Amino acid sequence: MSEPVLLTVDTVAGYLSREPELAAGLDVEGGLSVLEVGDGNLNLVFLIEDAAGRRVVLKQSLPHVRTDPSWPMTRERTAREVRILREHGRVDAEHVPALYGFDARNYVVAMEDLRDHNVWRRELIAGRVHPYAAEALGRYVAKVGFATSVFGLRGPDKRRLVAATVNPELSEITEDLVFTEPYVEHPHNVVLAANEADVAALREDGSLLREIGLAKIRFQDDAQSLLHGDLHTGSVLVRESDESVRAFDAEFGAFGPTGFDLGAVWANLVIAAARAEALGERTRAAVILGLPEQLWSAFEAEYRALWPARIDPRVFGNEVLEGTIARIRSDAAVFAGAKAIRRVVGFAKAADIESLDEDRREVAARAVLRAGRSLAVGRLDDDAPGNLTAHVAEILTTARP
Ligand code: ADP
Ligand code: MG
Repeated sequence: MSEPVLLTVDTVAGYLSREPELAAGLDVEGGLSVLEVGDGNLNLVFLIEDAAGRRVVLKQSLPHVRTDPSWPMTRERTAREVRILREHGRVDAEHVPALYGFDARNYVVAMEDLRDHNVWRRELIAGRVHPYAAEALGRYVAKVGFATSVFGLRGPDKRRLVAATVNPELSEITEDLVFTEPYVEHPHNVVLAANEADVAALREDGSLLREIGLAKIRFQDDAQSLLHGDLHTGSVLVRESDESVRAFDAEFGAFGPTGFDLGAVWANLVIAAARAEALGERTRAAVILGLPEQLWSAFEAEYRALWPARIDPRVFGNEVLEGTIARIRSDAAVFAGAKAIRRVVGFAKAADIESLDEDRREVAARAVLRAGRSLAVGRLDDDAPGNLTAHVAEILTTARP
């Protein structure tokens, strides 16, 4: 057998004529326009259009990190992403790209072209908030979180799905990048000299380290539901005209605590708000900071609405619902804290902060670290999301330049 092919803009058309099931009905022979748009850390992404305007996206994994060829990474991650697209698409097709096909030999997935959407992070950076996205993501996490938990799957079916979706290599990246590297000396950690004391303060903070350590264990041990696994604002596409919202790039997907995906959204909204604050855009910062509450309310309302359909109500009574929701809420806050901190200290920094000039970056980075600590340590055990939001707002505004 020959080696897997690595696609280029020039070879995509030939590839699609050999793999018609990935061509998704496009007329390949009539000529294609092909753009390579991969801007992420990992993969090749081609936007393809035929003469009649029909479109498809091909995403192919490289055998290494795109931005660092010396860092090898399993190409099986494409199969993992396909699995998440399939499972999540079954439950909530409205909020993920449609899956057209998968070439397992060459690690190529064909999916719906969403070029008429924009990446939410880029929109936030440009000052366009798209507030409706928070509520949509709350419903998405609730639907897939419920359907892939023991409330939506019979015990044996759930265990089989857990076994079929293990993602050890990419889950380890999360374990390292989110829960470990920011808290130790590591070459991935780079901050402004002016922020070094802020980072040192995190590492001396025993209560923060305790929460992060316990959160890491929950991430490693807990198979509550099938996560997207990397639900930051750069993994969300938005389209204003009809308020369409799609979560994409799910190659980090695996079973884990449901609050992890909510925390990822929350953390990146705090980061977006810190940017707006640093730029003196206070009204916009306040609007963005209101979104985690909308994310949470939409999640909770959807989860409660699904509850009557749970598989086995015999011992899953209403106290179990309340306990489950309280636990997800507390998890979401801690994971939000961990995710906020890693985007400032460690590998794969947030463009929202990195694109600020140095003075503003220093202030925004400090604010995010403090907000992250507060989210991780303060949690939400007894607190309403609104109280924690107010607290984060206070931190961001007192850090003003
Ligand atoms: P990576 O895993 O390398 O980060 P992504 O899945 O994030 O790859 O894709 C990289 C970029 O390609 C995205 O930021 C987005 O701009 C574009 N993209 C990815 N999937 C689609 C799609 N289905 N439709 C339109 N653009 C897409
Ligand atoms: Mg990406």
